[in-house]
Amino acid sequence: MSFVPPQRTLMGPGPSDVHPDVLAALSKPTLGHLDPVFVDLMDEVKALLQVAFQTENRLTMPVSGPGTAGMETCVANLVEPGTTVVVCCNGVFGERLRQMVERCGGTAVVVDDAWGRAVSPEKVADALKAHPEAEILAFVHAETSTGALSDAETLAALAQKHGCLTIVDTVTSLGGVPLRVDEWGLDAVYSGTQKCLSVPPGLSPITFSERATERVQNRTTPVQSWFMDVTLVMGYWGEGKRAYHHTAPVNMIYALHEGLRLLKEEGLEAAWARHHSAHEALKAGLEALGFSYLAPEGERLPQLNAVWVPEGVDEATARRRLLDEHDLEIGGGLGDLAGKVWRIGLMGYACRPENVRHCLGALETVLGRTGGLAAAEPLLDEGVAA
Ligand SMILES: *Cc1c(COP(=O)(O)O)cnc(C)c1O
Repeated sequence: MSFVPPQRTLMGPGPSDVHPDVLAALSKPTLGHLDPVFVDLMDEVKALLQVAFQTENRLTMPVSGPGTAGMETCVANLVEPGTTVVVCCNGVFGERLRQMVERCGGTAVVVDDAWGRAVSPEKVADALKAHPEAEILAFVHAETSTGALSDAETLAALAQKHGCLTIVDTVTSLGGVPLRVDEWGLDAVYSGTQKCLSVPPGLSPITFSERATERVQNRTTPVQSWFMDVTLVMGYWGEGKRAYHHTAPVNMIYALHEGLRLLKEEGLEAAWARHHSAHEALKAGLEALGFSYLAPEGERLPQLNAVWVPEGVDEATARRRLLDEHDLEIGGGLGDLAGKVWRIGLMGYACRPENVRHCLGALETVLGRTGGLAAAEPLLDEGVAA
């Protein structure tokens, strides 16, 4: 029998709900990966990615692989054996960056911040001062493991002041909160399709500044990964004559194109505002139900609400009931936060008023509490357009 998945609402840390138009795009006939019609589509995808990233970088394309593949592409291309990298660790993904830097033979200087806090610019400034040999600053803009938003603009300015390039994780920020690659001077930036772009998991958009591209071209050692070496990949994704490098996941490129087209049609500012106002409504409801946030006000991601599980609630059982009885997926905690926090996503197509209502209503039933929906409703009526 063919597989028939249940119709869930995905409000965890990703994947998030896929837009129906994106699902329709996926099922269109597959083209050859060098078909001229597909090559034209690749050019459109690059142009749409430049809009989403707010950049004019020529090296802008989707890596064939999930967000982690984009992370590895940035690290593998920029870090050579012996490169010192200041790596900011305030959650799971900063720690993953550190491990990749070390696997590429780099030396990681770790700037630690508490899980749930933004990266501290003061600590980064101190680390850059103490390590004049550092060539790269790596950090996560939107830490999905904790719901913390860091100030990418300020961190990038510090890096520039010390002559460092930046590697920036924007997997959860792209499409959900303001991100301006050129204006902020970010250098090697990677994202993912499965968070705020309303596209299934499987592609990782990246963009490299001229400085980052030059650094790759001037390497003294070849990039250890053949597949991720951007100088080779650009033979396929670059300008002019395209040559086979690997077979692009053709239908996923259709999906990304549609997701990015929808984002452009909505407008970046409007998409950011939608995430912000849905978060305000969800927050009012969650607080009325007795939840409090891990990240302090001012350091919170609207698209990922990490909240402490209230005292006396058996979190695994409650989460299972949300899934079984309400077809609602929310996320548990990672690492030290396992069993202690819930991560409720409002990403991309999942970020809609009806989902805020669905989530709060389901929580009321499962927890046997009331008042969440009532607290959220006035904010939903005001702010969020459908
Ligand atoms: C989800 C996520 C990743 C990894 O993306 P995958 O698609 O799971 O490989 C990396 N960084 C952040 C901040 C993420 O949220």
